[in-house]
Amino acid sequence: MSKRPDVKDYIRTIPDFPHEGIMFRDVTTLFADPRGFRMAIDQMLHPYAGMQIDKVLGLEARGFILGGAIAHQLGTGFVPIRKAGKLPGATLSQDYKLEYGEATVEIHEDAIQPGEKILVVDDLLATGGTAAAGIKLIERLGGEILSCSFIIDLPELGGGKVLEDMGMDVHVLCE
Ligand code: IMP
Repeated sequence: MSKRPDVKDYIRTIPDFPHEGIMFRDVTTLFADPRGFRMAIDQMLHPYAGMQIDKVLGLEARGFILGGAIAHQLGTGFVPIRKAGKLPGATLSQDYKLEYGEATVEIHEDAIQPGEKILVVDDLLATGGTAAAGIKLIERLGGEILSCSFIIDLPELGGGKVLEDMGMDVHVLCE
């Protein structure tokens, strides 16, 4: 008899990365495993069966890997949100707070048309700062965010509440 596998079985925890005291949840082991990767994509897609989605938007960098696979499966386009200075065309920028300091994310200003239905994708939700900045960029372009999907939520950091307070529908595969 074999136990039904869980995405958690494929995620590795690396202590003290990138700083002492941080337990880094490493999804590269999930991505590297053929069953693990397929299971993660299938489970992320599950809530959206039958829904009309125009574009999948991935947050740099692991959101690109997930978002590309999900967009291919849905038959939609994919749009990257990148750290400042990486996108070649005209961009919109959004600043957000980190634990120490600030960061900026950008989107191509012609990447989303007003009214398009968007699915936002990333590997992990912590404070929600990165996803909230991405959501603001999409909303500034007139996109309609249908949902946000993550593999992992760290509930003690409150990102789920931040996104729900912004009116977002949030799906996660594990905590
Ligand atoms: P937040 O902005 O605080 O919600 O942090 C989420 C962002 O940081 C996402 O883009 C994640 O990829 C990244 N991140 C933070 N902690 C981890 C971790 O433990 N593993 C993988 N990514 C992480």
